[in-house]
Amino acid sequence: MENTKKDIRALTKDELIQFFESQGIPSFRGKQVYQWLWQKGVHDFDSMTNLTLAHRKLLKSHFDINHIKIDIEQKSKDGTVKNAVKLHDQLVVESVLIPTASRSTACVSSQVGCSLDCTFCATASMKRMRNLNPDEIYDQVVTINQQSLTYHQRPLSNIVFMGMGEPLMNYKNVLASIDKITDPEGLGMSPKRITVSTSGIPKMIRKMADDGVKFRLAVSLHSARQEVREQIMPFANKFPLDELLESLKHWYACTKKRVTFEYVVWEGVNDTREDIQALVQFCLKVPSKVNLIQYNPIDGNDMKQASSQILDDYIKTLTNSRIQVTYRRSRGEDIDAACGQLANK
Ligand code: SAH
Repeated sequence: MENTKKDIRALTKDELIQFFESQGIPSFRGKQVYQWLWQKGVHDFDSMTNLTLAHRKLLKSHFDINHIKIDIEQKSKDGTVKNAVKLHDQLVVESVLIPTASRSTACVSSQVGCSLDCTFCATASMKRMRNLNPDEIYDQVVTINQQSLTYHQRPLSNIVFMGMGEPLMNYKNVLASIDKITDPEGLGMSPKRITVSTSGIPKMIRKMADDGVKFRLAVSLHSARQEVREQIMPFANKFPLDELLESLKHWYACTKKRVTFEYVVWEGVNDTREDIQALVQFCLKVPSKVNLIQYNPIDGNDMKQASSQILDDYIKTLTNSRIQVTYRRSRGEDIDAACGQLANK
């Protein structure tokens, strides 16, 4: 028999309350169920112990509770934990806990696979299979929060949407997941501690700004020269740098938040004075900072990180122009958990 039950976690709080009202049951029951699902994270209706047996039975006859399962948990020697996460339809995404002395960061996926074609990213070798639902994104955060509590006796301090997929191509669900993550009846995290990373889709950056979102924005820039950027991020031919820049100015005007540019320096790709100058000029046009990321080699290409001399050159030139720059060492490389290495190996 075909399963016609709906996933109760696909309902908003209002829809849940409406369901109870439509059955002639007081609306506070809807709130109770919402808390069981989102605050306490139960996986079956019988765990909802403050509901009557009749109400539990009613819910069972209408709904399933879909949830993710950790398939494989791998620990790196630097403390990074990579999870292969199985979804209700058996597809798999990856999410990562990245601990430092002062922080615990969750890196979460927003899509199964990715439709973009960045030449340096392992996820690009997988087709995009589907978007994640809000609850599937939220569950990754809850799971990693648990791991942080278990391994480091502290809750998550930060969340980055830098796992598999392009968050702005699953905008609605990403936003809905962030609503739950920040809702006091969900995880109650501050949006300031959440960063959404995009390959740079101008139309969607404008929309986010207009929607008044409160989280932070990072853009994977990698080159401020259109012809170079198109070589390594071919889809960028549809999103020219000047349009990207205009959208970021709009973002800043609406949010007053600086954007972070993520940037890898590769030998023979973006390692000349001209590349450095182009980045400086780009950064001077919109309040921003630069996060230089270590390149994590992937199978099937021979791109190589530029020498530390070139990196120093980038850092000095940016600093001299009063542009803040940080250099991020990779984490979890030994378990393929570092940036761009997520591909369900
Ligand atoms: N699609 C989004 C989020 C996923 S990628 C985006 O493009 O921003 C997260 C970050 O890892 C991006 O900055 C991306 O450019 C970077 N990245 C991808 N592959 C990498 C690799 N092999 N080494 C280092 N960083 C990589």
